[in-house]
Order: sequence, then C-alpha cells, then structure tokens
Amino acid sequence: MNVLVLGSGGREHALAWKLSQSSRVRNVFVAPGNAGTQIDAENIAIDETDFAALADFAKRNDVGLTVVGPEAPLVAGAVDYFRERGLKIFGPNRVAAQLEGSKAFCKQTLRSADVPTADYRVFREPDAAARYIKDRFPHEGEDVPVVIKADGLAAGKGVTVCNTAEEALEAIDQIGRLRVFGDAGAQIIIEERLDGEEASVLAITDGKTILTLPPAQDHKPAYDDDQGPNTGGMGAYSPTPLVTPQVMAMVEEKVLVPTVHGMKRARNPFQGVLYAGLMMTNQGPKVLEYNVRFGDPECQPILMRLKSDLADILEACAEGRLDSIDPPEWDTRPAVCVVMASEGYPGSYEKGKTIRGLDEAAKLEDVKVFHAGTKFNGDQIVTNGGRVLGVTAIGETISAAKLKAYTAVKCIRWDGAWCRKDISDKALRHP
Ligand code: ATP
Repeated sequence: MNVLVLGSGGREHALAWKLSQSSRVRNVFVAPGNAGTQIDAENIAIDETDFAALADFAKRNDVGLTVVGPEAPLVAGAVDYFRERGLKIFGPNRVAAQLEGSKAFCKQTLRSADVPTADYRVFREPDAAARYIKDRFPHEGEDVPVVIKADGLAAGKGVTVCNTAEEALEAIDQIGRLRVFGDAGAQIIIEERLDGEEASVLAITDGKTILTLPPAQDHKPAYDDDQGPNTGGMGAYSPTPLVTPQVMAMVEEKVLVPTVHGMKRARNPFQGVLYAGLMMTNQGPKVLEYNVRFGDPECQPILMRLKSDLADILEACAEGRLDSIDPPEWDTRPAVCVVMASEGYPGSYEKGKTIRGLDEAAKLEDVKVFHAGTKFNGDQIVTNGGRVLGVTAIGETISAAKLKAYTAVKCIRWDGAWCRKDISDKALRHP
C-alpha cells in the first residue's frame, strides 16, 4: 500500500523512515515534508491543514493509510474529514483530540476517570482568576505554588510555572485580558504546582487495546542543566530508568487504562497516540498533560528502537484491531536523540544556512540523522527552521548511545549551529 504522512518535523521524518522499511509499503508520501523526507520518501507540496487537497491526493494516489504527525491538523479535524470520505487514517478525531486541544477538557476527563493529576480550577473571567489567587494567598511574599495555563494550544508558551502572586497575576493578565494567545486564552486554568522529574509515556490505542511504548525523557529547556527558555524539545532518550517497570505498571493501571475507558464511556473513544506527560512526584506519577500524537523529539529514539513493522501497527490501530497483532519487538539497546538548532532559537533566527557533513555523519554505524527544519536549495541542504536536525544513535548503554550521537553531531556544521551537550545525562542520576 501507499502511505501518506502529514507534517514536516523530525517526528515525521522518523515516521516516514520507519514506514518505508515495511515490506508492505510501496510509496511513502510526506506533506509537506523536509529535505530528509525528500531523501527517504517523496515530498508532496500540500500544507498539512489543507484537508481537501490532501484527501484528493490520497484518493488519486491509492493511499491506503494516512498518518498525522502534529496536533494542529488533528485538533482541526483531519481524521473526521478523511473518514467521512472513506479514507483510512491514524489518529484521534476532532473531539478526542481535545485531550490536547483544551486543557480544561483534559483536566475534566482526568478528574472523571480518577486519574492522578494536579488539583485545578477553570476560570472564564480573568478577574475571577485573579481574585482566586489573591484570596487563596493573602500574605505578602508567601510562596504561590501554582501553574497558570491558557486552555488552548499555544505552542508550549501558554504555561507559566509560578512562585509568587505577581507572576501568577501577570500570567492571568497576559492570557485573559491581553489575550496574547488569542482564543486559546478564553479559559484560564489554575493548577497546583507539582514537584519532581518529568517523563513521557506514549501508548498506541484503538480505543480498546492499549499498546504501551517504552518510556522516554524529553529536554525542554534550551540550555544545559535545564537552564534558559523552553523550546519544542532539545533532545530525548529512551528508555528512561526514571520509569521503572513498577512505575510503568502503575502508569498503565492508574493513568492509561482509566483514561481510555473514560473516553469510551463518554462515547468519545480515543484512537491514535496517547502521550502522557508525567511528573514523578513523591505520591507517584501524576499527569501534567496529554498529547494526542507522537512527541517530537521522543518519537525519534523510540522508533529507532522499534524492530517490528510500524505500518502493521498503525494500520491495525486505524482499523480498530490492535488486539490482532503481536506485541511489537524492541531493540534492547537505548537510543539518544540530540537536536541541533539554529542560532537564536527559540527566539528569532535566520534560515537558509548551508548544512555540511551530513554524508560523513550518515556513514557512522547505528546513527540516523532525522531532519526537521531543512530543505533543498538546488542540490544543497539548507536550514529552514529553529530545530534543524535530530541526530539519533543507538548503543549498548545510554552513555554509549550518547557518545555516538555526539560523534555524529561533530561531523555536521553550519553557520550558528548549536545543541545541548547533556542530553540523556539525567538518566545517570537513576542507575
Ligand atoms: P501549550 O499548550 O502552550 O503548547 P504545553 O502543552 O506544553 O503548552 P503543559 O505540558 O501542560 O503545556 O506544560 C508545559 C510544562 O510546564 C510541563 O512540561 C511542565 O514542565 C510544566 N508544568 C505544567 N503543569 C505543571 C504543574 N502542575 N506543576 C509543575 N509544572 C508544570
């Protein structure tokens, strides 16, 4: 069959690369893709949210399965649009995608299903939210352990982790009164601040069967030791020792199973990737957020370790028969992905810098360079985004995988290229 992947990041390159290894897949198309997907698959110049053109392409090109990478097309209803036209597609429908698209919906779902998560309140009026903060924390200078969130999608910028009342009130003002995130700020969530380390557990579910993937850990802050502004993710590794088999069992029993059942009970079955962003607290894992698609960059090290046929898994999920396939096989060796970024990211940056050394890196064993913000300029590959490459390696240990990934990073250069130097070091704290 032919497969269509929607999106243009490192996650989509990893999906296209893995899907193209399936003996059952003839062509992998990526819309709109990047230079890496152009090499490993075939790019189609259609925007990932232009559903009419995408569905038309899928019909004309005998596409047997469409896989949606990013959240925006899912929240906008890509799955509903394709299904209404008889096209098979992997991902949650528009209503189920609200688990990521609306934090108020997510919290309500978690509460109804009795899933461990931070206490919270939802406000429609910024004045009421501000009053709540002032009433609850009346003493000047006291610690205000809350997190203020815009309800809708805000590209990772809609969340403020606070220590003081001033910070909380300022965040409420930005979201609710100044509407810096537009309609995403129509509701404000005030949450209890949780402490601990974060980890990601992803599962593929057809709404009945849950197939848990090995746990991963992302690195959101821009600089080493988790300093600096938040980014889309500067690197990831999998599996993470933070999520022991016992913790994983707890996450399955107390988080994933009740969520999937809760969605089903609400006549809103969830099909696709259910990604739990977790805080490992003293009271056990608690859900910080749900995403409804593969994480980027967590997807890259996870898929690097997958030995089974990804097309079989995603197709079975889209057909609601995950229980009919064998559990996936994983390479026992860990994988580490280091993101190389443009100078200035996550702030403003220039594009169009020529990338050199990709061929040299490609010659290294157990290394795969996934492209994110790249494109072809003639026969040269140039930068085309903030996060440019996800250099991913597999090794006998996390340290060995890290060493290989950074050896590959050293081969690659462009004007202003940089990366964190400590991706996966957090694992060493949990021997
Ligand atoms: P956006 O909607 O803007 O794209 P997001 O989906 O990335 O943001 P969250 O994952 O909910 O937002 O939060 C982002 C980060 O904020 C988390 O990874 C975590 O570090 C921190 N955070 C969120 N909620 C809490 C909490 N209750 N306690 C402590 N930290 C939190």
